[in-house]
Amino acid sequence: MSQSPADTPVNIKAEREAGLVTVEWADGHRSEFDVVTLRLLCPCAYCQGEAGRPGWLDTNPALTSVQSQLVDMRLVGAYALAPTWADGHDTGYYTFGALRADCPCPACAADRAASR
Ligand SMILES: [Zn+2]
Ligand SMILES: [Zn+2]
Repeated sequence: MSQSPADTPVNIKAEREAGLVTVEWADGHRSEFDVVTLRLLCPCAYCQGEAGRPGWLDTNPALTSVQSQLVDMRLVGAYALAPTWADGHDTGYYTFGALRADCPCPACAADRAASR
């Protein structure tokens, strides 16, 4: 797998009390995900659906505080983050490329809006 500096994290910080996950990338960029945003990006089959079937997130669920409470986060190999949520959900593997592509900072949001 080839990774560019733009999707290679050099530092990952999870602040559970603040509800913030910060990723610093090798190209100097910094992405701050609040936990609700992160939960809504969960890429697992249950949340996003699979094979054309809608997932749980397609129903626009109202997240409970338990569902968006980060209790743990682990690295999956050298390519993804897997958070554990307080409701026990831990099957979402967030690849670094996808995290960078979904960076919520204003500059990246503007870039995405411009390329749509
Ligand atoms: Zn999920
Ligand atoms: Zn950004």
